[in-house]
Amino acid sequence: MSVPPVLCYHRIGGARELGVTRVSPAVFTRQMTALARDGWKALSLSEFAAIAAGPTSPPPHAFFLSFDDGYAELAEHAYPVLADLGFTATTFLITDFVGGENRWDVQYTRRPLRHLDWDTVARWQARGFTFGSHTATHARLTWADDAKARDELHRSREAMLARLGPAAGTAVAYPFGAVNARIRRLAREAGYAIGFAGVRGDGDDPMNIPRVPVYVWDAGDVPFGLRGDGLGALGRIAAYVANRCAVGTTILRAVGRSAVRRPGGP
Ligand SMILES: [Zn+2]
Repeated sequence: MSVPPVLCYHRIGGARELGVTRVSPAVFTRQMTALARDGWKALSLSEFAAIAAGPTSPPPHAFFLSFDDGYAELAEHAYPVLADLGFTATTFLITDFVGGENRWDVQYTRRPLRHLDWDTVARWQARGFTFGSHTATHARLTWADDAKARDELHRSREAMLARLGPAAGTAVAYPFGAVNARIRRLAREAGYAIGFAGVRGDGDDPMNIPRVPVYVWDAGDVPFGLRGDGLGALGRIAAYVANRCAVGTTILRAVGRSAVRRPGGP
């Protein structure tokens, strides 16, 4: 069984950053417009989950579009473009930070960035967009013990269900794409039916769906993740390398936290 390709964007527009995850609104609009013109169909989460779970073969030219982290600019620069083209998307929210600033991340921008708030999320859900969990605090689950990983998965799912209803409790995207057999089991136990990983996922396991991130250099009409050619393969390798670099981000973040804590400590 093979699942349709899955793209993963992070930020669309907003303040420029030192990192690699911001795609400009112009590039994003051009990419989506080109895909729509070429006959691509953006699958809803339930359509995608049905294909991932069973023997249903994917329709040709179908893809799944996802956004990680739930930045506020999506409602301004991404969702309206998609709605105009008849596309839908699924956004994975860091539930402790919905409506707040991205204090969970290394600061790549001059000022902290804002996340979507629950009202905006509910409005776009009513327009056919779907939301899932990206854990409670963007924890790297593979580095967490069972209790911590359970809490991240469970607490964020409860928040999604309470705010958005049952459809929002189906899917989880593992922060940094970091997942292993233990985390897949804990995610299933927490009640998720589908889990999205990074480029090294496995299309045969609904809890380990592979995704290709779209980074700043992926600026052609058709993102690398949807290309069957050599450039597509190269793009997936570049995405893999960039994701490995995100390990550095986690360490930096941990170092930053302890540096902040120390002066006020005992
Ligand atoms: Zn993320």
